[in-house]
Amino acid sequence: MWEAGRKKMIKTVKTVNFKDKRVIMRVDFNVPMKDGVVQDDTRIRAAIPTIKYILAEGAKTLTLMSHLGDPAKDAEKAKEKAVKDGKSFDLDKYIKGKHRMAPVAAHLQKKLGKTVSVVFAGEDSCYGKKAFIDKQKPGTVIMLENTRFHKEETAKAAPDRDKLAKALAEYGDIFVNDAFGTAHRDHASTASIAKFVPVSVAGFLMEKEIKYLEPIVSSPVKPLVAIIGGAKVSSKIAVLESLLKNSSALVIGGGMAYTFLKAQGKKIGKSLVEDDQIGTAKSILEAAKKAGVEIVLPLDHIGAEKFDAAAKPVKIAAVDIPANLLGMDVGPKTVAKYKEVISKAKTIVWNGPVGVFEFDAFAKGTEEIAKLVAAATAKGVITVVGGGDSVAAVNKYGLASKMSHVSTGGGASLELLEGRKLPGIEVTRGRDYFIAGNWKMHMTRKEAADLAKALVKSLKSGKHKYLAAPSFTSIETVGEILKESNILLGAQNCAAEEKGAHTGEVSVTQLKDLGVQVIILGHSERRHSYSESDDLINKKVKLALMHGFEVILCIGETLDERNKGKVEAVCKRQTERGLAGVTVEELSAVTIAYEPVWAIGTGKTATPADAQAVHKFVRGVIEKLYGSQAAKQMVIQYGGSVNAGNAVQLMAMEDIDGALVGGASLKADTFTPIAKFS
Ligand code: PEP
Repeated sequence: MWEAGRKKMIKTVKTVNFKDKRVIMRVDFNVPMKDGVVQDDTRIRAAIPTIKYILAEGAKTLTLMSHLGDPAKDAEKAKEKAVKDGKSFDLDKYIKGKHRMAPVAAHLQKKLGKTVSVVFAGEDSCYGKKAFIDKQKPGTVIMLENTRFHKEETAKAAPDRDKLAKALAEYGDIFVNDAFGTAHRDHASTASIAKFVPVSVAGFLMEKEIKYLEPIVSSPVKPLVAIIGGAKVSSKIAVLESLLKNSSALVIGGGMAYTFLKAQGKKIGKSLVEDDQIGTAKSILEAAKKAGVEIVLPLDHIGAEKFDAAAKPVKIAAVDIPANLLGMDVGPKTVAKYKEVISKAKTIVWNGPVGVFEFDAFAKGTEEIAKLVAAATAKGVITVVGGGDSVAAVNKYGLASKMSHVSTGGGASLELLEGRKLPGIEVTRGRDYFIAGNWKMHMTRKEAADLAKALVKSLKSGKHKYLAAPSFTSIETVGEILKESNILLGAQNCAAEEKGAHTGEVSVTQLKDLGVQVIILGHSERRHSYSESDDLINKKVKLALMHGFEVILCIGETLDERNKGKVEAVCKRQTERGLAGVTVEELSAVTIAYEPVWAIGTGKTATPADAQAVHKFVRGVIEKLYGSQAAKQMVIQYGGSVNAGNAVQLMAMEDIDGALVGGASLKADTFTPIAKFS
């Protein structure tokens, strides 16, 4: 369901029209290569749904770009190794076998089949390919050479990255980013390009990754159990701290568990330890205690005398590890504890193995975790696996398809779980609009029901936040129809008192009972035809917020006030008085609707520029009252004869975040085009 506030949603390929458009798409085809042959095509296959969708939607050309290893750095390392081993090193052969994109293009061609033509743009450069792209037949897929052959791709200075980004932007009218694995990189082809292309959207792979990973940090289905493994505490501090906020239990496994055990005063023998991280481990344990998060550390172990695949596994039945041994995996008591903790979860996130699973003798703990998480998925638990090693583990045990989501990004998934903003994702965010219909004193219950049914159907695929506010008599009927839909249920007014002898009034409790979620208050018809004062409106606003409703507070000047130059003074007064005593926390449930009285129901609309000027002014009033963060978050709708013809121009304005619609909301075929504007 929609949250209140001015949020920036991810825009996906579904929100744009690709017909006859040239598309430039970043994919993550950074696949393992040996002698020019793709060794594992998971990442190529993962991009195919988006590629097929764009082609099916009629794109003129689809140009793909990706990096493939890091030619300069990788070659240097390979050369050093060859010299050390006393072998000769052929740079061209090495690069051809590992970093050239032509074999990847050929592999993609095989995967897409004969109906699609994939052409390689040449190994000379990613620059200067516009003419080559434009001469291709409609529906052709063009693969550019490895972007990392150009140092501008990863350059630190933005102007350097922009040089390549501008050249790549020439190849598309629309930029699609489907490279989740590289989304944490602020590179020319992942982020800078968005500055030079009119539209930037996310592909299906990116969308799925965000859908599963972001809520773990923002709003997981609780209880959340996090299983974090891996060798080093130092690389997982940020993710541990971030996950502490929402988890009920944090399972810490793998090499880093021994640093935590040492921090607790346990004996860890010769196990891996980061002595400089003992302090950090202690403070994480302390923070968990304060937050009431259960920390699950190994209770027993499988040890060995040395770190070797052939080392003999030794059972260590207690938490303390003898001096001659090092911990390599967890023991059966720990696995039993994992089972108990996992059985309580509604969401599980797993990043990092709990033992040296690449050595068969020490893989049991990780295998058991994989099985337990897979079994939880079958019971309806949301399970998300991220990070190279845990993904390798679920693949090794053939359990990848048994998880809700297995991330394709190592670093990117970790950074998202740390709660960080990823440059490659941020460029695909668009504004989140709120479009509301005020049905006023119109329609019988039957007519209102028919309209609600039509809207449920027509707005099902809508991308914005919606509200229908019928008259009191139809709320119950309409509410039944809107249940489970993406349209919120509204009321057009409420009483200023909670209960009692108030003939003709309707209370917030009664509205709550009907399932109302949003109340429109201070509408100009209430202010001017029913003489509602700022103080009365304020009383209603506070009462509605106290009872957990969202509120749309309407403000706006009359024609006389406009002619006398009082627009700002009126809007300021109505905003300040309407919100008097509302806290900054409560404010996130408030939307302001700027509705110039002279424009309501008259067919006269404020020009987009005039409306924008008032919206900007009102945002400034909010900033003075509540600070800049709250002002940025505030959703400000425009109202006053909004229709399909003027909605796009109005909502293109910087500070107009949606619309409150009267007349045009009374029919599905006049409201739908406004609600689905893009
Ligand atoms: C309204 O009643 O809030 C309104 C804006 O009406 P209309 O769209 O008909 O001008």
